[in-house]
Amino acid sequence: MLNLVLFGPPGAGKGTQSQRLIEKYNLVHLSTGDIFRANIGGGTDLGKLAKSYMDKGQLVPDEVTINMLESEVNKHSDVKGFIFDGFPRTEAQAKALDAFLEGKGMSISGMVALDVPEEELKERLKKRAIDSGRTDDANPEIINNRIAVYKNETAPVKSFYEKQNKYYAINGLGSIEEITSRIFEVIDAIN
Ligand code: AMP
Repeated sequence: MLNLVLFGPPGAGKGTQSQRLIEKYNLVHLSTGDIFRANIGGGTDLGKLAKSYMDKGQLVPDEVTINMLESEVNKHSDVKGFIFDGFPRTEAQAKALDAFLEGKGMSISGMVALDVPEEELKERLKKRAIDSGRTDDANPEIINNRIAVYKNETAPVKSFYEKQNKYYAINGLGSIEEITSRIFEVIDAIN
């Protein structure tokens, strides 16, 4: 199995690159942000709860997010692997994911991290807001909050995978194709 964590700050290109990876490696794509947005669209209780955090650029609480992710994984059996996009975003989530996968006889193959400078992220998010209609991309205050949350709570997840020798940094600048081929190179080396 190939189980990848796609990592990087908001606007790094995780969603775009995930699409290319699922095609090439036939993986199931699990984006916690997308699942929350689908729940918001469907007016579920989970959606209402998630929205109250997402609207402020804060993380949805770990317990809620972990339970949701685990039940999504459990919906799929007999698959080639998963791409976890936007998860884990805290050390507690990373630990929970490891324990959960271990219980299923699975593990993370590697974390692929997209490195993009902050100014470029802000530019990309502004552009994405126009196409996606995502309100959390349109408001500079929310964007700053999401980047701050990334630095304080999410960046430490890097060392969690570094300690396991599973961390692979990718230069996230350049054309979409260039970045994709850098990621393919890393994955083909570990796969
Ligand atoms: P994303 O689509 O990955 O940019 O996520 C959008 C928003 O969903 C984030 O700003 C958080 O509020 C929430 N979210 C997504 N994934 C997680 C996660 N793993 N833990 C907590 N909150 C999350």
